[in-house]
Amino acid sequence: MPYITIDEDRCKGCGLCTIACPKKLVNLRETPNSLGYTVAVFSGPEQCTGCALCAEMCPDVAISVFKEKKP
Ligand code: SF4
Ligand code: SF4
Repeated sequence: MPYITIDEDRCKGCGLCTIACPKKLVNLRETPNSLGYTVAVFSGPEQCTGCALCAEMCPDVAISVFKEKKP
């Protein structure tokens, strides 16, 4: 099952990935992190297709897409 990881140290909370995901699986956290960014979070792999649109959209290269969950 595909899934993504989001590097919170790179994410600036711009929200482009939330628009890009056709399944609406990426959302911005409501409360800011220690740097003041409302970083993106992945809301679960159940519907992720691994299409990588979220990662392609991210200007900060914060998202990695994996085709299969690590054993
Ligand atoms: S890989 Fe595709 S389906 Fe999965 S979170 Fe990213 S945009 Fe959404
Ligand atoms: S597109 Fe990248 S920088 Fe912008 S909110 Fe998503 S993960 Fe963060």
